[in-house]
Amino acid sequence: MNFELTKEQQMIKEMVREFAEKEIAPNAAKWDEEAYFSVGIFKKMGELGLLGIPFPEEYGGAGGDTISYAVAVEEIGRACGGTGLSYAAAVSLGASPIYYFGTEEQKQKWLVPMARGEALGAFGLTEPNAGSDAGGTRTRAVLDGDEYIINGEKCWITNAGHARQVIVTAVTGKDERGKNIISAIIVPTDTPGFTIRCNYDKMGVRASNTCELVLENVRVPKENVLGDPAKGFKQFLYTLDGGRISIAALAVGIAQAAFEKALQYAKERTQFGQSISKFQAIQFKLADMAMEIELARNMVYKAAWLKDQGKPFTKEASFAKLFASEAGFRICNQAIQIHGGYGYMKEYGVERHLRDIKLMEIGEGTSEIQRLVIARQLGC
Ligand SMILES: Cc1cc2nc3c(=O)[nH]c(=O)nc-3n(C[C@H](O)[C@H](O)[C@H](O)COP(=O)(O)OP(=O)(O)OC[C@H]3O[C@@H](n4cnc5c(N)ncnc54)[C@H](O)[C@@H]3O)c2cc1C
Repeated sequence: MNFELTKEQQMIKEMVREFAEKEIAPNAAKWDEEAYFSVGIFKKMGELGLLGIPFPEEYGGAGGDTISYAVAVEEIGRACGGTGLSYAAAVSLGASPIYYFGTEEQKQKWLVPMARGEALGAFGLTEPNAGSDAGGTRTRAVLDGDEYIINGEKCWITNAGHARQVIVTAVTGKDERGKNIISAIIVPTDTPGFTIRCNYDKMGVRASNTCELVLENVRVPKENVLGDPAKGFKQFLYTLDGGRISIAALAVGIAQAAFEKALQYAKERTQFGQSISKFQAIQFKLADMAMEIELARNMVYKAAWLKDQGKPFTKEASFAKLFASEAGFRICNQAIQIHGGYGYMKEYGVERHLRDIKLMEIGEGTSEIQRLVIARQLGC
């Protein structure tokens, strides 16, 4: 694999960095403080084509690859973890399943507006009693004539409060072995009986929108089932594999921001008559941080490259997500350490990175689940 970005990928990196530094970074502290999801910034990202990077032009996308998309997530995450999470969820969870599994009609109706940045989507898998064990979903969808009637509850669904539709997983029957069949169903958010509450008070990624969903006798036409109704479980496993690349990229972006602040501060701060960057203890921290970021970024690129080549990438996506989130957490923690007491103060903006990056060890499969996925790939 060639570890250098192509000209096109490099251009996307520079374009997104410039945009994120100008439009997102200056607002990140405020959005975090106020737990504010900026509709305006998503509008601008849509105009720049960022919401359609990995989708073909015929579906309103930019025809880019997964590496370009990962690069964009990293750059947005470097400016604001919460905005990065909402961006990654919009593309990987809201739009991608429709691109991978949707019928042509579904793609035209639901994917095209998302890829063009005219609408947002969300993916509702997690329930109060079905998190890591997402196959244990209790939401039910019963066919009644030409419609599904859906009842159930979902929690912590990113972007649902601003989404045009949510892809909801639900049990639709039993297979011949008596196991639940899970289907993914596209549910427009304005459907009667669909209640969306976005009142969570989160530790981090506060600029992202996170909601609880309640579905009470929600009726949708049966053609809203995403692709093959018997394959909902497989669909969400594949969707999560792809999503993990973006969460890993987001962790790299947040860690990069914390590292840059720590490096600059270490050069500026004087103690015992010299810059603290002259102390070997601080140098070693910075050296480890730089190395782990580089390694994590390469893992993201490799997983993305495998996906683009149509090769298996489940293990590599979990490698990247697990390593980038855990290394990222260490990096953000050390960035505070290098700042000393100032790092503990909101004003310096490093504590936000630690709060933001913690989610990367939880969302789209916890670290424990990543280790299970990897072990399974090893044949355990
Ligand atoms: C801010 C935020 C945004 C989110 N966005 C979305 C979204 O858009 N869509 C969506 O569907 N979900 C979303 N989630 C949910 C997220 O994916 C889940 O929180 C995550 O999958 C873990 O599920 P859980 O919280 O129920 O934890 P649990 O599954 O209850 O796990 C609790 C602990 O037990 C461990 N554990 C569980 N099972 C095992 C096992 N077999 N072996 C070892 N350890 C185990 C876990 O690793 C964890 O440490 C979001 C969550 C947050 C916080």
